[in-house]
Amino acid sequence: MRVVLVGPPGAGKGTQAEFIAGHFAIPKISTGDIFRANVSGGTELGREAKKYMDAGDLVPDEVTIAMVHDRLGQDDAASGFLLDGFPRTVRQAGELDSILEELGRSLDVVLDLEVDSDEVVRRLSGRRTCKQCGQVWHLEYDPPQQDGICGRCGGELYQRDDDSAATVRHRLDVYAAQTAPLIAFYSGREQLVSIDALGAVEDVTERAISALAPFDAR
Ligand code: AMP
Repeated sequence: MRVVLVGPPGAGKGTQAEFIAGHFAIPKISTGDIFRANVSGGTELGREAKKYMDAGDLVPDEVTIAMVHDRLGQDDAASGFLLDGFPRTVRQAGELDSILEELGRSLDVVLDLEVDSDEVVRRLSGRRTCKQCGQVWHLEYDPPQQDGICGRCGGELYQRDDDSAATVRHRLDVYAAQTAPLIAFYSGREQLVSIDALGAVEDVTERAISALAPFDAR
């Protein structure tokens, strides 16, 4: 199954992507994760991407599209994938079609996680990530037992530079201007399935899995 996950920042794409990909046994391909790994690894790509990420802006299409092209061509993506964070512009969606066509494949479904912007700001500004294992916590919804310490591995928690209140507001503007048009784009092609992303993580996962299940058998 070839799936794209869309939704505003803070909709829970990363968390849900993990569970959904695990359930359907397909690789989760997150452009944000790949960029962050490159930033941590100090690569040229990471240095280039960081400027945009810290400001809450999109990394230029040339950089992002080449990276996704490369990743989708890898063996583990041959029989399916879940894309998290790509495409983020209508142009990227067109490029995704071209990449898949070149590989002799096509997209099955686009899952849209719906959540309102007040909730997004609440979710993102309370989010804390473990420096060591990457586990995501939330000061209000899923607090670690000890302040600032990961309850899974004991690592130090930090706030992503792009999760500060001002940057979150900017990321929402960027989403509205550049990414939200994707919803109409995919809806027009009858490839869009929307679910309510409010509520407990496991309830949203259940909704997502039920919505995607009909596409798995195809
Ligand atoms: P995310 O973890 O998906 O919220 O992504 C974090 C940041 O990485 C975004 O705010 C962008 O700066 C960058 N990024 C991730 N995916 C893309 C994409 N498809 N196009 C451009 N920039 C991206």
